[in-house]
Amino acid sequence: MKVTRIAYSARLNPGKYGALLEQARRLGRVRSEVWQRYGSIAGVGSGLTDRQVRDRWLADGTHAVFGVLANAWKETVRDAMADIAANLAAAKVDVRRTINRRTTDPAERKRMFTALKADNWASDPFLARQMRKHWKRGRNRTHDQIVVRADKYHTAVDGRGRLWLAIPGLEPRKMVRIPLSTTVAPTGTLRLILRGGRVEVHYQIDASQMRSSQRACGEATIGVDKGYTEALTDSDGQPHGAELGVLLSSESDRLKERNRRRAKLRSIANNAALRGDHAKAHRIKVNNLGTVKRDRKAARHRARVRTEIFTAVHEVVDKAATVIAEDLTKRFTGRKKLGQNINRRLAAWTKGVTAEALKSVSERRGSALVPVNAAYTSQTCHRCARFGRRSGDRFHCTPCGVVWQADVNAAINILHRAGDPDIALHTPHHKVKQILQDRTDRHRTRLPVQDSSPATTAVRRAKHPNRSAMGNK
Ligand SMILES: [Zn+2]
Repeated sequence: MKVTRIAYSARLNPGKYGALLEQARRLGRVRSEVWQRYGSIAGVGSGLTDRQVRDRWLADGTHAVFGVLANAWKETVRDAMADIAANLAAAKVDVRRTINRRTTDPAERKRMFTALKADNWASDPFLARQMRKHWKRGRNRTHDQIVVRADKYHTAVDGRGRLWLAIPGLEPRKMVRIPLSTTVAPTGTLRLILRGGRVEVHYQIDASQMRSSQRACGEATIGVDKGYTEALTDSDGQPHGAELGVLLSSESDRLKERNRRRAKLRSIANNAALRGDHAKAHRIKVNNLGTVKRDRKAARHRARVRTEIFTAVHEVVDKAATVIAEDLTKRFTGRKKLGQNINRRLAAWTKGVTAEALKSVSERRGSALVPVNAAYTSQTCHRCARFGRRSGDRFHCTPCGVVWQADVNAAINILHRAGDPDIALHTPHHKVKQILQDRTDRHRTRLPVQDSSPATTAVRRAKHPNRSAMGNK
């Protein structure tokens, strides 16, 4: 398993940065050309590999117009072809879904899946139509990247201990030397991204080399509920990543305030421009509405949230051999647009990071991650399985006469879902509700009230000490 590492450049002189920008801009034209020619149904339908594209370009002289060195455009072609392949694969996921909806006949399904996988969908009218519908013609939007192959760069440490990365420039045998603000030399293929006057050097390392990957996982089976105040709460009642809520809400407040100020300044600039005071409009735009600081702050915030969430997941895996969690990879996009609401955007993004962290850490440390259907796990009591009322971080169960800590209650429900004989991962929401209601009805009509048994209550109380604490309030 590979993980991406990012090294940042130290301060670069403007001339050097400008030269790198120019190279990235020219390579952006290479990308656009690749997308233009091969990014559509006709292009990949012809099944070209990046090597064949390179040979064609060399034969017909396409490469000569870009004004970049041979290795630079060749690597860029390879990278852009990989982007196109990823775009195509994403469309196929949607088409596979439509196949499942169209037919239940296993043989017919298999025939279509096979044709789709082998790119033989053009001759099948249904598949061709669906591919045209779901595979939107993409275009290149990347104009700030340089891909450098492992044997085309080198790193060196100077007398003051600073690490320098030397990559090919626009002229042969003239390397551009970039000072890095780290002492760990990047390895393998590099992706240089130019952002806000700084160079980000992205590269991949094998996760098994990382120190955190060598820590063994625990032995328990633990359910986790993802939250907003804490990154995760586990079924033992322990919170993990407690700083998350503060990080997110302070970022949300900051963004709202910043957006308000920027809107005001933008309207002042627009009014000035309308009056004919273009100098003032320009001044505001350059000095007050720039993106460098804004993007840097956003990147810093993202890094802190990621650290908080990954640390939380590591804490859980310290205890667990099996982690039971809500299936966070389910996509809701398309049906609901997130719009401008900052809180919802942040929540959606942290959900993605949590999913990534659970998958990545489990894989690296050897614990099993079991995704379960989490429908109604925050609305039912883990002890009597009846629906209760949630208010803030508390969950009230009237039949039990207990107030649970809401996230802990949900985490225990999630843990139980792993062994649930009726509720599978893809059981629809309304069916889950029906199943849960049937269970409590049966409970009420046929079975004696088990909750009154003092023995089980005592055991449960001991197991979940938070219960009495919350219940007495
Ligand atoms: Zn209850």
